Amino acid sequence: MSYGRYYLRVKLNVTGIVQGVGFRPFIYRIAVKNGLAGYVRNRGDAGVEILIEGDAQCVESFRRDLAEKKPPLAQIDQVKLVKLSGTNQFGEFTIWKSSDAAEFSGSIIPPDIAICNECLTELRDPKNPRYDYFFITCTNCGPRFTIIERLPYDRENTTMREFPLCGFCQREYNDPANRRFHAQTVACPLCGPKVYLTTRGGEPLDSKDPVREAGKLLSEGSVLAIKGNGGFHIACSVMLDKPLKRLRATKHRREKPFAVMVKSLAAAKTFAEVGSKEQELLQSPMRPIVLLNKSVCYNLSPFAAPNLHNIGVMLPYTGLHHMLFDGVDDPAFVMTSANPPNQPIVYDNNDALKTLGGTVDYFLFHNRKIAHRCDDSVMRVHGKRQVFIRRSRGYAPAPVRLKAKAKRCVVGLGGELNNTACILLDDKAFISQHIGDVENVETRSFLQEAANHLYSLTNCHAEAVVCDLHPKFTTTALAKEMAAADGLPLIQVQHHHAHAAALMAEHNLEEAISVVCDGYGYGSDGGAWGGEILFCTRDSSKFKRLGHLEPQPLLGGDVASRYPLRVAAGMLAKAGIDVEPWLMKKDAHLPFGETEAHLILDQLRKGSGVVETTSCGRVLDAAAAVLGICYERSYEGEPAMKLESAAIGGKEVLKLKPVLHGETLETATMLRLIFEKKADFSTADLAYSAHAYLAKGLASLAIEKAMVLDVKNIGFTGGAACNQILAKVMRKTVENAGLQFLVHEAIPAGDGGVSFGQAVVGGFSRF
Ligand SMILES: [Zn+2]
Ligand SMILES: [Zn+2]
Ligand SMILES: [Zn+2]
Repeated sequence: MSYGRYYLRVKLNVTGIVQGVGFRPFIYRIAVKNGLAGYVRNRGDAGVEILIEGDAQCVESFRRDLAEKKPPLAQIDQVKLVKLSGTNQFGEFTIWKSSDAAEFSGSIIPPDIAICNECLTELRDPKNPRYDYFFITCTNCGPRFTIIERLPYDRENTTMREFPLCGFCQREYNDPANRRFHAQTVACPLCGPKVYLTTRGGEPLDSKDPVREAGKLLSEGSVLAIKGNGGFHIACSVMLDKPLKRLRATKHRREKPFAVMVKSLAAAKTFAEVGSKEQELLQSPMRPIVLLNKSVCYNLSPFAAPNLHNIGVMLPYTGLHHMLFDGVDDPAFVMTSANPPNQPIVYDNNDALKTLGGTVDYFLFHNRKIAHRCDDSVMRVHGKRQVFIRRSRGYAPAPVRLKAKAKRCVVGLGGELNNTACILLDDKAFISQHIGDVENVETRSFLQEAANHLYSLTNCHAEAVVCDLHPKFTTTALAKEMAAADGLPLIQVQHHHAHAAALMAEHNLEEAISVVCDGYGYGSDGGAWGGEILFCTRDSSKFKRLGHLEPQPLLGGDVASRYPLRVAAGMLAKAGIDVEPWLMKKDAHLPFGETEAHLILDQLRKGSGVVETTSCGRVLDAAAAVLGICYERSYEGEPAMKLESAAIGGKEVLKLKPVLHGETLETATMLRLIFEKKADFSTADLAYSAHAYLAKGLASLAIEKAMVLDVKNIGFTGGAACNQILAKVMRKTVENAGLQFLVHEAIPAGDGGVSFGQAVVGGFSRF
């Protein structure tokens, strides 16, 4: 102690992502390094409270270290500093027991983080006490979101509570110099969760090395359910057809692509093209599934991702995943979320036995409970840009930061398919993990649970509940109940307006014209919208519909969405083609053959009472059917996805000029031309031409309106904005016109981003 210096006592409240990222150990180290006394503790609002006493210069240097040397996973949003009076009370610096105090909002715990390189090295080191330990983790890696039941983030508030530390782990936990100092997930083979193999009926199998044994079983052709951090995967070989065919039969997934986990990046490169951006995403701590183009050397079973040009690939993200590949030559295994039809991912051991026992041969269980389930994230890359298809593990619940602050705190409950929930607070949007299609009790309660968990994690209180305009969505009913229960206003936002608002908020735009290419959304006029050009401003709850695709008949209503041939027949007939010979053909691919053909022709003749839609998805579906690429939508987006795959490498052979009628882009004549030119051009060229027509046509319409309204920004959003050809052609058209073209990078363009868009409208608009 040097006499005569200026002493300070300071209290700092830090908000952001500061629990579960090694923040207290970090604070401890920089406090001790700077010769300060005091304490640090976690708070019940996911923030951290620090009190330091000492030399003013040392306090200054501490604050510099805080800003500059924070742990890699920590995010500091705000440091609230209060100077305290009184004399020094602490002789040293210590980590205190957490407090339940929760007065600040907006902090959150981190997402799950993939195994770090140091842990991976230890996993492989025979001299390390955690050699071969499948759940090796440290302060810098491991599960967080999926194990936390409540705040603050202490071991007793997580599902690790059931595993008391052994002497060795405890020593590391207490050692400030150790990487596992105060790491809540620390465990070893002696004290941590155990892994075990069972039969499909749940009888334990005697195995000394269950994980590697599981790998061998997969390699030999068995189907396994494997419990991970956030739920169960169904796994099988991707080299053999037999287990894949079996899996498809029992899961009733005829063609839906399965994601694979590869042994290594090198293994991925043996069958897929990996660009630099793809590589960066694959290896990131978030470890999402990345859609990679199949390479010319593609040698995996054709049943993994049938009739698509790409396949979802991820790298191992836990020790267990790495060990699965140890004793086998397989470059990859199928790893698909284990969820029964229309149900969320299975995460409980007993539920798994009940619901998956009929699908798998064996289970690879561990005995740690999953507090909150979380599916894998899915991304793809357009050029150098990342595109979220699903934002979940590795990202949720970390907030998306906006450049402007919302007027009020709101919760958005999303639409129906691929849903999420979102809480918007100030400039932070907390989007939940992937919930799935909210059509029944199970997914509805999962959505509610996820929203409530977000509330408690962020310690905030919504001032309004926001939902879709669709009167019959389960999420609309839930929103009404939640609003009524808390006495809050209910705000309903048109589906495509939500898509557009999401894109604008991501880019901090005051106003924009958005092209929304989507499947189906309930329009302001009650119609079935989905190929829209909208003008929106940030502070208005209203929007202007400037244009749309030509309305097309949905013969048979919802059935037409399932069988795109019906949409095609309606469009072709409208364009003046006699579709009777086409539909009556033996190989017309109608599930009920001639009988159905007669029904369709009947509906065409009557012409009344047929629902119409402006959906872009349905036009792509119809083109897929006309070109013989896909006749039935067995999974969401299938015909359009296959049309895109077929168009890769194609050229624009039909130089179709967009036909605009006022606010409408004609689509029936385009389809007629494709139908008529089938014999003259390749499928790839015609599939590409269909994309080019829609992209150029919608872009031209948007540009025309932008000129009139003097708007500089044109955005592209909706489920079909994940389509690379549409995005590329539209970008070129818009940029050639001297306007700015914007797409999503932080939020899914599809319906996983709708809750966020709703929250933006509810949070920023004047009402
Ligand atoms: Zn680690
Ligand atoms: Zn231990
Ligand atoms: Zn949508």
